Amino acid sequence: MSVTWSLRPEPGPGTEAVVRPVWAGEPPAGLTAEFLAGTGFGGEAGEVLQLPGTPVTVLLGVGPRARTDRDAIRAAIRAAAAGLARAVRAYRRLAVHPPGPDLRPLVEGYLLGGYRFTRYRSDASPSPDQFVELLTAETPDAARGLFEGRRLGEAVLLARDLVNEPGEALTPSAFADRSVAVAAATGLECEVWDGPRIADERLGGLLGVSRGSLVPPRLVRLSYRPEHRSNETERIALVGKGVTFDAGGLSLKPNAHLAGMKADMAGAAAVLGAMSVLGALDCRVAVDAWLPLTENMPNADPIRIGDVLVMRNGTTVEICHADAEGRLIMADALVLAGETRPQAIIDIATLTDAAAVALGRRVAALMGTDDALVDRLRAAGTRAGEPLWPLPLPDAYRPQLRSRVADLVNYTLGTRHGTALLAGHFLREFVPPGIPWAHLDIQGTALSDGTDAEWVPGATGFGVRALAEFLTDRSRPPA
Ligand code: MN
Ligand code: MN
Repeated sequence: MSVTWSLRPEPGPGTEAVVRPVWAGEPPAGLTAEFLAGTGFGGEAGEVLQLPGTPVTVLLGVGPRARTDRDAIRAAIRAAAAGLARAVRAYRRLAVHPPGPDLRPLVEGYLLGGYRFTRYRSDASPSPDQFVELLTAETPDAARGLFEGRRLGEAVLLARDLVNEPGEALTPSAFADRSVAVAAATGLECEVWDGPRIADERLGGLLGVSRGSLVPPRLVRLSYRPEHRSNETERIALVGKGVTFDAGGLSLKPNAHLAGMKADMAGAAAVLGAMSVLGALDCRVAVDAWLPLTENMPNADPIRIGDVLVMRNGTTVEICHADAEGRLIMADALVLAGETRPQAIIDIATLTDAAAVALGRRVAALMGTDDALVDRLRAAGTRAGEPLWPLPLPDAYRPQLRSRVADLVNYTLGTRHGTALLAGHFLREFVPPGIPWAHLDIQGTALSDGTDAEWVPGATGFGVRALAEFLTDRSRPPA
């Protein structure tokens, strides 16, 4: 489905449906509370009631009016717009009375809620292309809100499309090709390293993991530079995990755990999505991103348990579990990021089941070495509708990474306790001291198993909006 948006004061000719926002407990003009009660429509966010006529009137619930919390209002508008998008697929021409002056959450929620991945469905009836008129004066604020909501929504859908794509189709080289295309379309610089270059650059973790796969690895570097910059322009580095399929390597996963493993590149997809929208959102900080891309398979010449990998910074790692591969490829990318001495490094990865067990399907884990950075990320996540919750990195747990034969183990055998934190500790070893660092574990949030507000089954694109919100936050102090 593609949506063409416009701003206009009145519905245009040919409008099939006019959408009116309804606050919970407030019947709209011309309808009685008794009538609404009879329909079961209560005005909760995302509820929809269609009343026949020409054009059809669509009542859109946006929840209680009395909220004052701006984040909660935005979340309700996104949820309402998402429900609307799913309810009005059949119409080609819609006119929508916006529930408030801020059009960004309305447009964002509509795009996210209406998304479906139907590329491989021969029975999917294609949704018609839609023309949506937002009934409001064409002020600069309205135009900006529409533009930003559209670009942010499209960035999330880009990430969702990548995550939903089967592993066979989205190989590391295919992901790299998509990155090159996205960079060209959105004004980013992009560099791709192939296998020989990755070996030359001594990325021992990425190279090691890729050895078990018949398809070669890639490393993608993306750079965004703001239009006006000086020596004082802040630079932030991002790292995203890109395991295009995680079979567990020699530590082969049982079948139930292989489901969804095409999504093990969701961190890299979130970074690419966020990078793609920085220019449109007029981001004022410079951003560099590293995406290590590989499969984790038991074919070819896989790393053995007990092997020792030498990472880019010379740290040696004893492999105790071949399914703890994400931290190995992230480690090299973190070293690369640190070499450019940014003011902060943020990584995002589907890293541990423990994070999903702790926080579930709607909240991602956040760890880091710098309280201010962690606080700012958490606030950005809340504003963006992607909640992040901090977990600690207790010094007392660090000794569990000790190896008898190398500098570190990649996995602590014999414990199920605190494994999200141990993974965080492992990554921390590869961040140069003095550079603030934060880590997002999106294992629980990368996929949705149901439909709820802007979430639909399959990939969520989680992280795109939190990262974009963080990077474009004008209120934050310089690092
Ligand atoms: Mn794994
Ligand atoms: Mn993995």
